[in-house]
Amino acid sequence: MKYSIKNLYLEVTRKCNLKCAHCMRGPQQDVMLTTEYVDTLFDKLNLQFVENITFGGGEPTLNPDVIAHTLDRMTRERIEPYIVGMITNGQIFSEEIADAFNRYAKERVERPGVFRFGEYVCDFAHIAFSVDKYHAPLNEEVRAKYREYCKWIRQEETDSANTHLIKGGYSKEGKEIPYVLNRPVYGRFGDDCINIEGDIYLAANGLVTNFATGEYAQVDALNLGHISTFSFEDYLREYGRTSETIAEPCGISLIMRGPHER
Ligand code: SF4
Repeated sequence: MKYSIKNLYLEVTRKCNLKCAHCMRGPQQDVMLTTEYVDTLFDKLNLQFVENITFGGGEPTLNPDVIAHTLDRMTRERIEPYIVGMITNGQIFSEEIADAFNRYAKERVERPGVFRFGEYVCDFAHIAFSVDKYHAPLNEEVRAKYREYCKWIRQEETDSANTHLIKGGYSKEGKEIPYVLNRPVYGRFGDDCINIEGDIYLAANGLVTNFATGEYAQVDALNLGHISTFSFEDYLREYGRTSETIAEPCGISLIMRGPHER
């Protein structure tokens, strides 16, 4: 079975080098996502298409191997989301991550038959630096290194606390997120592709959920199962909500590809 998914979120680690006053996650945990969990997830999803892939945490630069491993696998399998991005607090420069983003972007852009105009900045590969009144000020040396190493990669500073402040964890302000599990909405397309409308979230401890926002305890409490034993198809058949209204998505990836490709 193949899957088409809107948002895939990889919680790369629950460790962090900061302790921000607005952190919805709460106390950090010494838990790292493994390459085995990532491979199991990608094996099971056999992705036909995914709109967005996000590396988050915790602080994702503390676990560079998993990010590099995932991007290299995406290159090999030509998994080409509209956006693949990392959200970092910008205190740590990881050459391994910078190189991996460059490899992924370069292969995808320089492939024969792909159009580009002049000097190219990849819209599909993205590094976001958190800047707001709660985070420690951006480390300018680190920021400069990402600018220098990742010339191809779209980079921006984002103040998400301004728009998405969540109450929970260390944060005493912001929006309260209801402690409920929304069953994934899905539709089937043909015999071999299932479209999942919404989020699939792989936590660093291997738990799968579609609840990406909140404290680690909430994420764990609202898990659908552990990736090592989880069957997306069985779960969706039993608990998912089907939708008649989703437009057929399994051909969307063709828009991103040239005529010479599969
Ligand atoms: S908000 Fe981000 S950088 Fe700050 S403590 Fe939480 S995970 Fe770390």
